[in-house]
Amino acid sequence: MRYLVLSDIHSNLEALEAVLQAADARKHDQVLVLGDLVGYGADPNAVIERVRALEPAGIVRGNHDKAAAGIDDTGDFNEVARAAAEWTLRELTPAYRQYLAGLPAGPALVDDVIEICHGSPRDEDTYIFSDTEAIRALRASRRPVCLFGHTHVPLCARFLGQGRLQVDTPKGLPEFEVVVQEGQKQLINPGSVGQPRDGDARASYAIADLEIGRVLIYRVAYPVREAQAKILSAGLPSMLAHRLAMGR
Ligand code: ZN
Repeated sequence: MRYLVLSDIHSNLEALEAVLQAADARKHDQVLVLGDLVGYGADPNAVIERVRALEPAGIVRGNHDKAAAGIDDTGDFNEVARAAAEWTLRELTPAYRQYLAGLPAGPALVDDVIEICHGSPRDEDTYIFSDTEAIRALRASRRPVCLFGHTHVPLCARFLGQGRLQVDTPKGLPEFEVVVQEGQKQLINPGSVGQPRDGDARASYAIADLEIGRVLIYRVAYPVREAQAKILSAGLPSMLAHRLAMGR
């Protein structure tokens, strides 16, 4: 089984199309989506339509999906995120708002090897930024590979033994390989399709190939300027356009 893994698309249709095109050339059987389909970008309806058509084998909601569906308030959002969530809530068709409202909370078990979540397997809204949080997440995960999103930073974390943690990041590489090891639990973030935050503006995604026991994280360039122009003409905060070019 080869899974295409998409996270944090954030209404960025240009980035999603580029990823799907690149991923098709690499072949995959099923799609996994780790939440935050919408929020920040200018194409929430088109992105949901595209994701729904992929018929994901596994999908969980993100905090922005909850806000845009009106099922969670934006109390813990910053000003820019809140403005974008309110814009998205107004922009969504009733059917797509309902689709978002119906997305399940993570974590979700996909098969014997993979578990997916948005934030952490402990809690869907928790960010895994620190070693402490990564250790808690590894303890909570119930599969050898736990795929997560939310931080928009691609990485792999695993135990070295005696509670020590090994964290690896792709650091600008076009391709980054994680070996799935027997008896080892790993946390893997495929990075963000639509709003990368590791200083690399290219869209990030992963392919989890269980036949060869590898998870590969890839980057692909997309027409950033088109996505920026749409954000500005929609009247969304201009910072959301600027950050796409910086990958921050
Ligand atoms: Zn996100």
